[in-house]
Amino acid sequence: MICKKCKSTNLQVIESGPHKKLTCADCFAFVKFLSKAEYKTFRSLNAQPADAVGRATQGPLSPEVAKEMIDGLDKAFGLK
Ligand SMILES: [Zn+2]
Repeated sequence: MICKKCKSTNLQVIESGPHKKLTCADCFAFVKFLSKAEYKTFRSLNAQPADAVGRATQGPLSPEVAKEMIDGLDKAFGLK
């Protein structure tokens, strides 16, 4: 999952009233609105990255694992 504008993978969620907006943390471009399920997925993958990665690899985050996580987010959010 990357910003379509600047290609950054540094995305953030901004709460906008009842909606959760996924935006680029670097250029602030709007990416998409998140459903509750998507927001939960984003939170679980981003809130405790060290914990999640530790369970998955028992070691430092490798580029392959990072790519898998990003691909997983892409699929979860229907961006691919
Ligand atoms: Zn951007």
